[in-house]
Amino acid sequence: MEKFIPDENRLKSVSENYKAIKHRVEEAAIKAGRDPNDVRLMAVTKTVESVYINKAIEIGADLIGENRVQEYLGKKDELNLDGVEKHLIGHLQTNKVKQIVGEVDMIESVDSIKLAKEISRVSSNKGVTTDVLVEVNVGKEDSKSGIYIESLEELLCEIAELESIRINGLMTIPPICESEKEVYKYFETMYKSFIDIKDKKIDNVNMSILSMGMSGDFEAAVASGSNIVRVGSAIFGARKYF
Ligand SMILES: *Cc1c(COP(=O)(O)O)cnc(C)c1O
Repeated sequence: MEKFIPDENRLKSVSENYKAIKHRVEEAAIKAGRDPNDVRLMAVTKTVESVYINKAIEIGADLIGENRVQEYLGKKDELNLDGVEKHLIGHLQTNKVKQIVGEVDMIESVDSIKLAKEISRVSSNKGVTTDVLVEVNVGKEDSKSGIYIESLEELLCEIAELESIRINGLMTIPPICESEKEVYKYFETMYKSFIDIKDKKIDNVNMSILSMGMSGDFEAAVASGSNIVRVGSAIFGARKYF
């Protein structure tokens, strides 16, 4: 196999981009009258080679998100993950649950009772508790996974009954929007639902994390109450799929 030679310019731009995005997240929080420490920046690392991920970590990234179980498991030994929190953010098939439980700090993409039950079962067998977010399909798009908002509370209550799985909040990917106004509408719908459920104080339903906002819309998400923004291409550059 050919030795992989990192691109120095890309390493430099990863570090500059990370700092710039971090700064923009903080500015967006301040502008919204929020404490900048309440909003975490996740570096989304799908398709990105380990050297560039390690560069982001070196610069200060303390939260990374991967989409695919196989890809993450293949890369993790090359990553300097000391003190770094790892989240799975991509759609998870039930047959992959066994491989990922215990390997990440949170699964953000729980969208069915079937998946939650499997996470619960595997977690119990491994003697761990798995932290999760429930993914909401806020735009009701066929192309996206996630539960519709109308069915959210029922799903949360069902998951809350399961052992070895802990609900921490919600995640969403809104539709691609023509205008900023439109994306705000989706983010605000999510925030309202997040607060409504939090106020109901349902047993075992902890609503502390609202994960929304990506490269193109993280500032709007922060303005709307997000506390994890998941940014990939604005840090690492456009993705090349392999
Ligand atoms: C890829 C991805 C992101 C980041 O997308 P960018 O537009 O590159 O910032 C965020 N969240 C999820 C779930 C993703 O799959």
